[in-house]
Amino acid sequence: MYFAKRGIEEPVNQMIDTTVYSCQSDSCNGWMREDFVTPDYSCPMCGNQMVQEIRELPKIKHDHQFYSK
Ligand SMILES: [Zn+2]
Repeated sequence: MYFAKRGIEEPVNQMIDTTVYSCQSDSCNGWMREDFVTPDYSCPMCGNQMVQEIRELPKIKHDHQFYSK
């Protein structure tokens, strides 16, 4: 009788600490990953200033397909 190992070796959504910028406005929950932030750190939704913070986010897999060639 064989039982497959479940879960352990599958590529689950790994949570990693990610640098993001989040909007300072209380009425707006806009935020961006550091990779996509605008040069002046303004919120894409309301234009307010954004501040850096760390969030746990699922690791994004933009491995090779995205950037190669
Ligand atoms: Zn905003």
